[in-house]
Amino acid sequence: MAAMNFNCSPVDNPCAQCGQPIERPIWSERGSDRMSFVWSCQACGYQFTTIAIFPSRRAEDRKVAA
Ligand SMILES: [Zn+2]
Repeated sequence: MAAMNFNCSPVDNPCAQCGQPIERPIWSERGSDRMSFVWSCQACGYQFTTIAIFPSRRAEDRKVAA
């Protein structure tokens, strides 16, 4: 799975546990109106997920559904 050209990719996200910046997510999944990112901290080994929601895409989905 190659999704390298999304322009909303978060970088340098601070670790949710120790605050160490993480350069990039180890995994990402694109949904219809959102994107999920999995982060793995090199410093403490903590893993967590963040989700980005696209408001514009949600509006488009509403139009299609209507
Ligand atoms: Zn950490």
